[in-house]
Amino acid sequence: MATNVDTPDFQHRTPAAEPTPNSGPDQHAEVQYEGKAPFSSWGRYPNFNATVVPISWQSDYPAVIAKYDGMASGALPVGMGRSYGDSCLLKDGFLLQTTSMNRLLHWDAENGLLTAEAGLTLAQILDFCVPRGYFLPVSPGTKYVTLAGAIANDIHGKNHHVAGTFGCHITRFELVRSDGTRMICSPTENPDWYAATIGGLGITGVITWATLRMKPIVSRLIDYEGIQFHGVDEFLALTEQYKHVEYTVSWVDCTGTGKNFARGIFMLGDHSKIPDKLTQSPEPKLVFPMDAPSMALNSLTVTAFNTVFFHKQMKQRVRALQDYEPFFYPLDKVLHWNRMYGKSGLLQYQYAIPWANAREGTIAILNEVSKSGLASFLAVLKAFGDVPSPGMMSFPQAGITLALDFPIKPEKSFPLFDRLARMTLEFGGKLYPAKDARMTAAQFQTAYPQWQDFARYKDPLLTSSFWERVTAQQ
Ligand SMILES: Cc1cc2nc3c(=O)[nH]c(=O)nc-3n(C[C@H](O)[C@H](O)[C@H](O)COP(=O)(O)OP(=O)(O)OC[C@H]3O[C@@H](n4cnc5c(N)ncnc54)[C@H](O)[C@@H]3O)c2cc1C
Repeated sequence: MATNVDTPDFQHRTPAAEPTPNSGPDQHAEVQYEGKAPFSSWGRYPNFNATVVPISWQSDYPAVIAKYDGMASGALPVGMGRSYGDSCLLKDGFLLQTTSMNRLLHWDAENGLLTAEAGLTLAQILDFCVPRGYFLPVSPGTKYVTLAGAIANDIHGKNHHVAGTFGCHITRFELVRSDGTRMICSPTENPDWYAATIGGLGITGVITWATLRMKPIVSRLIDYEGIQFHGVDEFLALTEQYKHVEYTVSWVDCTGTGKNFARGIFMLGDHSKIPDKLTQSPEPKLVFPMDAPSMALNSLTVTAFNTVFFHKQMKQRVRALQDYEPFFYPLDKVLHWNRMYGKSGLLQYQYAIPWANAREGTIAILNEVSKSGLASFLAVLKAFGDVPSPGMMSFPQAGITLALDFPIKPEKSFPLFDRLARMTLEFGGKLYPAKDARMTAAQFQTAYPQWQDFARYKDPLLTSSFWERVTAQQ
């Protein structure tokens, strides 16, 4: 049965933290901020001023361009700013903030097809769909991202090896160009624009709405298992053994050396098949209150955290039924957790290295990180599968992906990052634009050789600081 959507249980919840230009309302950014202001990405590096212009209705764009004299310094649509680097920033330009263009438009319960405006967050989609027995087909490590943000980075989740990327589950969307052209894009309608916009970094046009195919569930619970491993070979053996399981991901200790090198916990899970409650999630209550002093995260605290985390799972194997919130979104429990890295912010490094070099590359890079003493607080290791992505510029490719965070200490973390970026390329890999603030134009253009074909789809008005950086003349 199809529903038109003003249902009482689809409520926008009130924010839990004070509003700031883009970090507040954390869960559902309903308040806009108009005027010149710093708009930071999740890594809070780099920091640029931009004029933030709210887009609240589908008809606001491109009408709003004229209000700002044609937006001569360029524009970029943005969502929740949960990208880490500068792919959601535009220095001295206009940021078209779409988070209050967030209405649910249509629900086809028979086929699990949800149509919503582009600024609706995955958290809001879960609030609506879980009580109806549906879940996201692909979920990142935070639910506070918008539908359009998830499309523009063609995000991946713990089930990439079986479900592919988010874009694989987008059946249609509307793309609006700055000249006013409106296009419906799907695998059969304007298919080249569909391919360019999925993973298209927000610069092919503004996505106003999209249809997402949801996945049926009967319970909030995840049948979870955690297994300790020691070393990359054990990780690979577990990956092979559990490749039929829907969700797999590993936490890896990057501080370990000797017998502790690349120790970690392989985490797997499936939606429980035993019917159980299907309620909305409670509001998160914890807020990281302020920027931590820059000393707070040093290699000693990170090593201590990693040791505690590893030994928290005292047994070699732990099995439990777990709610989906801690399984998918452990970090969302503490709002503003990025403040833990202090005012200067954090740098993410995430690679995808193809299978041919994945083992050697991963060992070499983990060695380099552990040798540097610049331990990463969060390190996530996962195997990507070979489900093709519909996006022309999508990041995932079959092989291994590793994601690490480093506190920004320019004299130390930048040289390390640059070494890791070079090593990634030597192993035939690439870096994830959604997480990047450092890769050079040469590195981007080598890793994404299709970038010039893609550039033909770029909207003349739209650009980002990321795009300007990685396409700069060399
Ligand atoms: C804790 C955490 C965990 C994460 N885990 C994962 C993970 O597991 N997998 C993964 O793939 N990513 C992950 N990410 C990254 C995140 O999912 C992506 O960066 C996502 O794109 C952010 O969405 P957003 O709504 O915040 O968009 P923003 O960061 O604001 O923008 C992202 C891109 O979307 C474009 N965009 C936004 N709105 C529109 C629009 N209406 N039309 C066209 N383009 C638009 C922007 O121009 C930009 O290029 C994680 C991030 C965090 C903070």
